[in-house]
Amino acid sequence: MGKKFSAKVLRAQWVVPITSPPVKDGAVLILNDTIFAFGKAKEVLKQAPSGAQKLEFPEGVLVPSLVNPHTHLENTHFFGIKKPQSFNSWLTQMVKLVKSQSFDDAFKAAKDGATQSLSYGVTCVGEFSRFGASFFALKKFGLKGTVFKEFICLNDSEIETKVAELESWLDAVKSQSSLLKVAVGPHAPYTVTPNAFKVVLDLAKSKDLQICIHAAESPSERKLVEGRKGIWRFWLGNVLDDAPLGLSPIRYLNWLGALNSKTLLVHCVQVDDNDIALLAERGVWVVHCPRSNFNLKVGMMPLAKMLSAGVKICLATDGLASTESLSPLDEIRFAIKLSDEHPKIYPSLSLSRWLRMVTLDSASAIGFEKEIGSIERGKHADLAVFKIGSAIDDPIEALVFEGKGAKLTMVSGEIVHLVAT
Ligand SMILES: [Zn+2]
Repeated sequence: MGKKFSAKVLRAQWVVPITSPPVKDGAVLILNDTIFAFGKAKEVLKQAPSGAQKLEFPEGVLVPSLVNPHTHLENTHFFGIKKPQSFNSWLTQMVKLVKSQSFDDAFKAAKDGATQSLSYGVTCVGEFSRFGASFFALKKFGLKGTVFKEFICLNDSEIETKVAELESWLDAVKSQSSLLKVAVGPHAPYTVTPNAFKVVLDLAKSKDLQICIHAAESPSERKLVEGRKGIWRFWLGNVLDDAPLGLSPIRYLNWLGALNSKTLLVHCVQVDDNDIALLAERGVWVVHCPRSNFNLKVGMMPLAKMLSAGVKICLATDGLASTESLSPLDEIRFAIKLSDEHPKIYPSLSLSRWLRMVTLDSASAIGFEKEIGSIERGKHADLAVFKIGSAIDDPIEALVFEGKGAKLTMVSGEIVHLVAT
């Protein structure tokens, strides 16, 4: 039985399409799951079939729904962990918390994380999943996204078993959702042996999958990877014995063959000029999580240098174990505060650039740019409305500084979150 034809018009004080200028008193016409037209409300309404459902938001700004390219939704219930605190003491607590978690705990947490995401206007995530439970939570709530299955292997004797587990998970879930892509998440340079890393990279290549790695996050990581020094040497033992000495985490990943345009590197705080040049040359996506970096006291990403070198950057919240909310707009506000306080390291960017980093750029980073990330004819109707007040002159400024929870969130033409009044 075919799905019933549906037509909807969303009208708002402003429509901000991202790839074209904002439209005052704008509207979007949605036929089934797709954007059919957008522009001045008067013109759009003329094209709407009779009987189309009409929703009006005279105090709202209508944008493409937001994309959060790095989350750990399974950690949603770890929000109570102390912040800020040092990365090393945070990691010790996290290891205990994660060990005590069951698949069901992770699934419940991920469902809460998915609901929270929708309430912030997010319909697509780059999810780093330890248990694989978040795949089913995202599926249940109809979100889109790429689920990177975490891979950790501290000992070569475990390679075969662990890779087989990973591969069977990928094969089992890959065709279970048309909205979710699966991918591979070798956790970090220090939690996967070089030999295991190479096997996982080959697996990703053979299946044409994206990979996501936490990289160059803390000074401790750099000390370990570059010189086998620091406290982590005692924690992690011989995991990097087969890796060459003297390479920064980024150059080590390059030595492994891990850097290409399908790679996402999360954090990249502890990077030097050579690392930055390499990131640009290899065309990797860097996922920037400034609140998480602040909360774990790992330093500040040299955003100005990265952008001027041509590194591709998108913005994400990270999980609630290291940040205060799953709101990309909160992340932008924090980033703007950093640019006010540290203008040399952290440039002041236009507000539309920041907004692009949580819409079209983050969609590109996880392979969804053809479907979502901007309001364009033919794209999926993944949209969000935020209340900004009446008679607003600059909708992007109002959204970035005043936007809190979404009033409406829509995925593929279906309203999945709507706040009354
Ligand atoms: Zn992470």
